[in-house]
Amino acid sequence: MKKSRRKQSAADRQNRVNNGCCPIHGIGMTQIGHNASQSDAPFEASCPRCGISGKTDSAGSAIILDPQFLHLLDGERGG
Ligand SMILES: [Zn+2]
Repeated sequence: MKKSRRKQSAADRQNRVNNGCCPIHGIGMTQIGHNASQSDAPFEASCPRCGISGKTDSAGSAIILDPQFLHLLDGERGG
């Protein structure tokens, strides 16, 4: 069975983020700094290509995208 190239689904993107990757490019997000406001959150990360950024909630957890990028994981909406 062939897998044809098609539009990324929201689930695909969420999987990438869960793996520490940019939801659009699928490449690893690089660390840009610490989240000083939460002693528990080890770092902030950003995609080197598009600048999508997110934070980890706690040590070892998956990246959570910043609010302005959450729509990327929200399925196919107009706009
Ligand atoms: Zn990217």
